[in-house]
Amino acid sequence: MPNGYCGRILIVDLTTGRTEAEEPSEAHYRQYLGGWGFIAHELLKRAPKGADAFAPENPLVFATGVATGTPVPGSGRHAVGAKSPLTGGFGEADVGGYWGVELKRAGFDAVIITGKAEAPVVLWIHDGDAEIHDATSLWGLETADVEAALRKELGDPKVRVAQCGIAGENLVRYACVIHDVNRAAGRTGMGAVMGSKRLKAVAVRGTGTIEVADPDMAKEIGGHVTSLEERWADFREHGTGGGILQMDEVGRLPTRNFREGRFEGAEKIAGTTMTERFLIDRDTCYACPIACKRVVESDAEYKVEPAYGGPEYESLASLGSTCGVDHLEAVIYANQLCNAYGLDTISTGVTISWAMECFERGLLTTEDTGGIDLRFGDHVAMTTLVERIARREGFGDVLAEGSLRAARRIGRGTERYAVQVKGQEHPMHDPRYQFSLAIGYATSPTGADHMHNFHDSALGSEEAMARLRPLGVFGEPLDRIGLPPEKIAIAARVIPYQVMKNCVGICMFEPYRVSHHRDIVTAATGWDVTAHELLLIGERALALARLYNAREGFTPADDAHPARFTEPLMLAGEEGASIPQEQVREALDLYYELQGWEKATGAPTRAKLYELGLGWATENLPA
Ligand code: SF4
Repeated sequence: MPNGYCGRILIVDLTTGRTEAEEPSEAHYRQYLGGWGFIAHELLKRAPKGADAFAPENPLVFATGVATGTPVPGSGRHAVGAKSPLTGGFGEADVGGYWGVELKRAGFDAVIITGKAEAPVVLWIHDGDAEIHDATSLWGLETADVEAALRKELGDPKVRVAQCGIAGENLVRYACVIHDVNRAAGRTGMGAVMGSKRLKAVAVRGTGTIEVADPDMAKEIGGHVTSLEERWADFREHGTGGGILQMDEVGRLPTRNFREGRFEGAEKIAGTTMTERFLIDRDTCYACPIACKRVVESDAEYKVEPAYGGPEYESLASLGSTCGVDHLEAVIYANQLCNAYGLDTISTGVTISWAMECFERGLLTTEDTGGIDLRFGDHVAMTTLVERIARREGFGDVLAEGSLRAARRIGRGTERYAVQVKGQEHPMHDPRYQFSLAIGYATSPTGADHMHNFHDSALGSEEAMARLRPLGVFGEPLDRIGLPPEKIAIAARVIPYQVMKNCVGICMFEPYRVSHHRDIVTAATGWDVTAHELLLIGERALALARLYNAREGFTPADDAHPARFTEPLMLAGEEGASIPQEQVREALDLYYELQGWEKATGAPTRAKLYELGLGWATENLPA
């Protein structure tokens, strides 16, 4: 077993109640590393072709990365994956905090859960053992109550809990897995998969240690992050929402269902305002000095409890400006509801904003909405709908399907206003401000996602370009507008690099460069990895996820971006850029070629799979 890992993966069948451990080879660990890499491998190997996301056969995978639980800053991350009930394809969401570290301390690098329990259960993992407990009394409870009850029942206040929430129980297609009550593995509906298995929670506790090969090297990496305090001081001060005013100023703050890029209420919902009005403390993840997490409290119009944490940028914008809501306390409360019920804040906010636009255009009426006068800016309507979605009550039952399915059910031309890719709602980064995002959004196997995307607003200087040289990137600085071939070539390097960070299990916000990621893997394992090897790990993980989607029936036609982005972005009355479809099509053709994906099927070519050491996976290629 290599250092940095436990060397064991827990396999659980909820139908039979059997648990067992597998011990992968060192080569397996080095080829897939962790996180997304493990998940994509397991989905192709274990999930029967065509199995529904809610079928017992759909494996739900919790996977740590090689760095998870090592002493380097930002190493508190792990990923959760399964077939997505929102997209019908590769589902994955990563999350920080402490749960993944605790899993490793308990002796497992990953947990793979199949089957379906007869009645609600909790999986209890502790120091090398796993047991399945009855959870009937926890079904229907909010996340903070579940965590408190489990800690009491298991007699240990240090137990870490991941849970599906009421939204997951109700199979809301974008239910998330909530960890530590306020950390969401948010995207692609992993909480609903958990709920479909009647798995209320996975509780973990471990007292083991995670050995690293080179503790001095790990310490040095930590020193690097600490020495750059001036770079992240603002992040610590105001959280990720601290940048809202700057986003608004340049016209890239998603507003009223992405119709506009500037919001007149930006200052009211900014992270700086949250610091002044509601912040009572700052919180952090395992081994991270940055502490960008918020602890907020309020008791005016809405009752906000500190346990559920405060909204990050994505949540402030999706539940705030995207819904036209400038009532910060309501946005914080809606974020709390999402954490208490287990809802992805991005899909929740964007699905509600889709409904608001359709209502204002007369495509929905109060007959559809159950009497709600659903207009942009109405914070009561917004918070009411969050509740109804989680409980699948009234119009909330329609919205619980996600904006694309809801639009297809309603018809009347509403699909045009669903801002989604492959059924997953767009995050809070408008591709009309930085065009390369459109390529990342369209081709991501998970549907629209910003975590494994290419933010080309940072390519405007020589210095920015120089930072990418270890990835083999050379060339002149590039403007954020436009999709020239040079930019697409860079995207083909940067996107797998982002996927690789997920496999390592490291936070994107840490000020690491390519050499640091290489050093993190070496410090943990002792392997003499190169930047090129790490890039291949990202490519491999991405190729497997694309292959899984192709096997499940996805085609290049699914790599489409929403109609909204063919319209000009409105900047306070002025028109900004739109993205011409023709440019996108040409860019996608080149991107496929660079990634080694078939134009006819969207899957990696046979040659690409062999090049990545994935010959075993060729049997999954579409005919
Ligand atoms: S920067 Fe923020 S999200 Fe990342 S590890 Fe630190 S506290 Fe967690």
